[in-house]
Amino acid sequence: MKIKSIRGFHDILPESIKRWHFVEDAAKRIFELYGFSEIRIPVLEFTDVFSRSLGTTTDIVEKEMYTFTDRDGSSLTLRPEGTAGIVRAYIENSMHAKSSITKLYYTGMMFRHERPQKGRFRGFYQIGAELIGPQEPSSDAELVVMLWRFFEEIELTPFLVLEISSLGDQNCRPQYKEKLVQYFAPQKEELCEDCQRRLQVNPLRILDCKQKRCKEIAANAPSMLDNLCEECETHFNYVKENLLSVGIPFTINPKIVRGLDYYTRTVFEITTDKLGSQNAVAAGGRYDGLVEELGGPATAAVGFAMGMERIVLLQEIALPEGFQKKVDVFIAYLGEEAKKAAFPLAFNLRKKGVSVETDYGSKSLKSQMKRADKLGANFTFIIGEEELKQGVVKVRDMKESKEEDIKFEDIINLSETFQP
Ligand code: ATP
Ligand code: MG
Repeated sequence: MKIKSIRGFHDILPESIKRWHFVEDAAKRIFELYGFSEIRIPVLEFTDVFSRSLGTTTDIVEKEMYTFTDRDGSSLTLRPEGTAGIVRAYIENSMHAKSSITKLYYTGMMFRHERPQKGRFRGFYQIGAELIGPQEPSSDAELVVMLWRFFEEIELTPFLVLEISSLGDQNCRPQYKEKLVQYFAPQKEELCEDCQRRLQVNPLRILDCKQKRCKEIAANAPSMLDNLCEECETHFNYVKENLLSVGIPFTINPKIVRGLDYYTRTVFEITTDKLGSQNAVAAGGRYDGLVEELGGPATAAVGFAMGMERIVLLQEIALPEGFQKKVDVFIAYLGEEAKKAAFPLAFNLRKKGVSVETDYGSKSLKSQMKRADKLGANFTFIIGEEELKQGVVKVRDMKESKEEDIKFEDIINLSETFQP
């Protein structure tokens, strides 16, 4: 029987890795500019880390986590998202004692047991950032601006919309939830089974339901934005003003709920209409209660995460060309002696930063040239018997279709001319 990968898990092959590097490099560059440092945390945590952070009535905790019992009986979970583990690390490493402002970013694989489809996997990659410490709205705004700048950098903003909202806080949200219950209760029978349950445990979740009838009913539900307390209102206005001051385009979508319980105040989503129903590319928000909830000192925080697979898919649409790996020089040789001369030549060129490919066997010149073509080599060096005798290399410029004999000892000094 052939061995196979697990459903919902995928390989990222060398032919697409350039795009991944492009996206990851841009994220790192921009995030570092904004003062963020990378943190690497384990993919496996005690289940509590997630169930206590995300909320027990969320989709992730209810049905998407990869949870299993360890040999000693403890319950472990493969991380479904990054924030909970980062907050755990923040507390465990007493980062709050080192600085009142902590700016972290991460990249890595997340695991959620959901129905695989285009842009939705069970094992997928996220890049995210967390700004822990400040409670002021300019920190929310800075984070959103940084995220948008990243998308500008990889030229995806023409395909994206940024939506923001506020979920209120412990002062105004309970009253709002009450209002929602009053609104939905008379129409309870028409809601889906999940939402009937949500009405009891967390009515906010109904606003996030994907069922048609639930959506229709939710369309006229009271809006959180009309029910914010004064502090939350001031906070939200400040974020909007900051975004306007740097010309970041956004719309207000009072229906943003976010799938996790830990959010307070500002929430945001970046979506696209180019990927079908998997339209969310990045999302985040403020989570002022989480650090304390996990046993740390009361600490404000705001963060986001984005889905790498969806970004790369979008990137393929936006920039279809230009992501093939290119080789600077292919060295073709004929005969054993030429092969031996090619070896140090390749070594020395690579040392100078020129990317070089050669054959390993004794194929015909024609088949070596074919491979040079396939690799997209800019130059092909040909070393045959005649060239060896004269101490030269035949250098062929593949684009211009020009040839020139260059002395062996001169080649290394010319290495810069072989690089794009
Ligand atoms: P969705 O509504 O698509 O399920 P989500 O609200 O569950 O998204 P978040 O938890 O906010 O997603 O995660 C942040 C980002 O990670 C998403 O915007 C998306 O780009 C990506 N993402 C989430 N789940 C998956 C998945 N199963 N496969 C691939 N990417 C994902
Ligand atoms: Mg989801």
